Amino acid sequence: MSNNGGTTRRIIGGGLSGLAAAINFAKNDESVEVHEARKDIGMQFHPNYQVLLKESPETPASESGATSYLNRWGLNPQFQYKDAKKFLCCTQKRDFTISLKEPLPLILRGGENSLERGLAKEAQDLGVDFHFKSRPKARPGDIMSAGSYRTDMAAFGAYYENSDFPRDQFLYMHDEKYSPRGWYLYIIPMDKDTIKVMNCCSKPHAKKVKKLLYKAVEERPVLRDIIDGAKPTGTVG
Ligand SMILES: Cc1cc2nc3c(=O)[nH]c(=O)nc-3n(C[C@H](O)[C@H](O)[C@H](O)COP(=O)(O)OP(=O)(O)OC[C@H]3O[C@@H](n4cnc5c(N)ncnc54)[C@H](O)[C@@H]3O)c2cc1C
Repeated sequence: MSNNGGTTRRIIGGGLSGLAAAINFAKNDESVEVHEARKDIGMQFHPNYQVLLKESPETPASESGATSYLNRWGLNPQFQYKDAKKFLCCTQKRDFTISLKEPLPLILRGGENSLERGLAKEAQDLGVDFHFKSRPKARPGDIMSAGSYRTDMAAFGAYYENSDFPRDQFLYMHDEKYSPRGWYLYIIPMDKDTIKVMNCCSKPHAKKVKKLLYKAVEERPVLRDIIDGAKPTGTVG
């Protein structure tokens, strides 16, 4: 008999929250079902690296890597990530590079080899049952992990062929002119030949986010030097 009084634990939404819950319930010998609205896990994002911040500044460096972090939450997935060691920081007025004392994990989200797919595999191995294209009506006892319904952020990204941008670096630019209000633009190397420039702004400026990205690439010398007149090979957002 399962530890949930013989009933099946239903989890609605197969993102990070739902998958982490599914794994931990399954480890507690519960029978678990994950209901995911899309046709597969990891389809809510185009493949994209996202930053994993450690829980607290006091967490020692030896325990702040991506794997240690996830292990502390009872998770042991196989997935793709890379450690950034340099941070090119661009404010409205100046640009400077910071060498990070501790590497900052950049986690692959969405698609093949993503954290979501790794967690789904771990859950499947523990016997969790997946239902795709499934949006059941919640009933008492269900775990709701369907993500946020609303966000203040609009984003647009462009991929460029580029093998010169250091693979252990990321760029973060905070310039109100291109990323209003209070948002940012960043560059993350995707693979050995491609970088992704992503611009974010608040919802009321959503219609301009794409135009502002190209304007920033044209106008800010630090971006102009990196992109060097190349045309995007793809876009997202
Ligand atoms: C552009 C962008 C950049 C980001 N960068 C970072 C970052 O650098 N670092 C960071 O920590 N966070 C970042 N985030 C936020 C982070 O991605 C989210 O906080 C995280 O994905 C939340 O996980 P979740 O499981 O709660 O929700 P989600 O990842 O949204 O997963 C929810 C899942 O539920 C499914 N679903 C929705 N409705 C239903 C339903 N009715 N029935 C069944 N299934 C349903 C969805 O299809 C989805 O698979 C970023 C987000 C965006 C959009």
